[in-house]
Amino acid sequence: MQMIFQDPYVSLNPRMTLFDIVGEPLLVNGMTNRKERVERVAELLRLVGLRPEYMQRYPHAFSGGQRQRIGIARALSVNPRLVVADEPVSALDVSVQAQILNLMLDLQKRLNLTYLFVAHNLSVVRHICDRVAVMYVGKLVEMADTLELYAAPKHPYTAALMSAVPVADPRIKTGSVELKGEVPSPANPPSGCYFHPRCEFAIDACRIDAPAFREISPNHFVACHRADELKLPGIA
Ligand code: SF4
Repeated sequence: MQMIFQDPYVSLNPRMTLFDIVGEPLLVNGMTNRKERVERVAELLRLVGLRPEYMQRYPHAFSGGQRQRIGIARALSVNPRLVVADEPVSALDVSVQAQILNLMLDLQKRLNLTYLFVAHNLSVVRHICDRVAVMYVGKLVEMADTLELYAAPKHPYTAALMSAVPVADPRIKTGSVELKGEVPSPANPPSGCYFHPRCEFAIDACRIDAPAFREISPNHFVACHRADELKLPGIA
């Protein structure tokens, strides 16, 4: 398992060259022969769309998108099966975000990788994920295949998130669900369902009992007392 970090401006050591950054996991894992490491680092840099000649440069010589490519090369250096990507594009310009996402999708297919992709941007999540888990105050509230979750959310918080996704057509009305109040502190969460102070569908049971995270249809899990009866809007 390896990790891609959120901010490529702070996740690369400014005193290390690309060779040292990408080659360090190889060295730690027993590749002590420098020539072998040089060849492997060159291969990894090519894999993520960087030129091997850059190997002796330092991170400050690269743009944000290029730095994130270096972070991806470092993560892939030891042939992981699972890559945890913690908001890997949120610190980048939108045009660069698309390049990095497409690179990740391409690498996923070529290397047969699994990503655990953490993000707040639901458009990005829809683009890259097969399956989505939604969290609220540190708890899973809904999990389903991406198409199903977006088209037919079963938890009111998921539906509110869907309604906040911007649509690039001014004639289409969005934002129909308006959440009131603030996200509670995880150190002092509300009783029962953590979402009940902000939920327009809350009933008495929601204030007392924490809903179980249960499977309401094949591979669709939700933690809501009223999930079976609510008809919530999604997005196509
Ligand atoms: S359990 Fe109750 S408060 Fe929580 S999301 Fe469902 S309806 Fe709303």
